Amino acid sequence: MNLTITGYSTALFSTWYFIEELGILFDAGDGMVSALTQKLGKIKYAFISHADRDHLSALHRLNPLNEKVRVFYPKDAGSFPALEDFSKRFDPDNIRTNWEPIDSGQRVYLRNDLVVESIRNEHIKAPEEVIKSLSYKVLESKKKLKEEYLNLSSDEIKNKIAQEGRDGLMKEVLTPLITYSGDTPVDDYSRFNNSNILIHEATFIDSVSERLKVNARNKHSSLEEVLEMVANIKVNQLILGHFSLRCSQKLIDSEIIRLCKYYGIEVPVYRMKTGRISRDVLAKNLIYSP
Ligand SMILES: [Zn+2]
Repeated sequence: MNLTITGYSTALFSTWYFIEELGILFDAGDGMVSALTQKLGKIKYAFISHADRDHLSALHRLNPLNEKVRVFYPKDAGSFPALEDFSKRFDPDNIRTNWEPIDSGQRVYLRNDLVVESIRNEHIKAPEEVIKSLSYKVLESKKKLKEEYLNLSSDEIKNKIAQEGRDGLMKEVLTPLITYSGDTPVDDYSRFNNSNILIHEATFIDSVSERLKVNARNKHSSLEEVLEMVANIKVNQLILGHFSLRCSQKLIDSEIIRLCKYYGIEVPVYRMKTGRISRDVLAKNLIYSP
């Protein structure tokens, strides 16, 4: 499946990514509404990673313009019920938008063939059972005949279905389409293994920003940690974003290329330019190819 990804991601200011073919918005930072304009109607699902203002501030504008959107958020992030309440008072006609809290490891079936799985991350420090920050994995779901029935004739299969029902003969096969890290430090590599397309944050680049990392209230990733992880897991395409404006685009780009070579990255790497909207990221934002 070809995916058209439009987005903006600059640390501190705004982050959002719209996956057009899936109708999925990951995060809803400033500028999303004015950038997507006529395409807003194509948003069906908004998965918000956490309650930092630069990841959600466009939600209350989106709601009156597209009230069919289902908004999903980490279940213990209190900002979302507050924002839902505000949105519904501010635009009282807009009552159809669904706001749905998500736990860690929850599977949400958007359609029969489209599933989103939430993964807890450690961006915001919280006790294990408290969910304030999530990453999201989008999977395609297909029903396939179980191995033990593969050598039956079509008549035998029809009989089996008549006797046992279709569900007993089939198994679900999940194929990863796209994974969104949200804001997160790099930790357990298995979280993002088998991602097909991985959108990952890379807030810190150089030694100056690395020093800021030590003092940061919430945890983030450095470019080097992300590339080291990607070198060790199965990902087909990597999109890097959430860079800091403290670093020039030139420095960011040269560091991506240097570290991709150093870690022997074997997949194409794309990057979100700081301070800019990127339209069709996979067609236009390639920075490294093996
Ligand atoms: Zn952020």
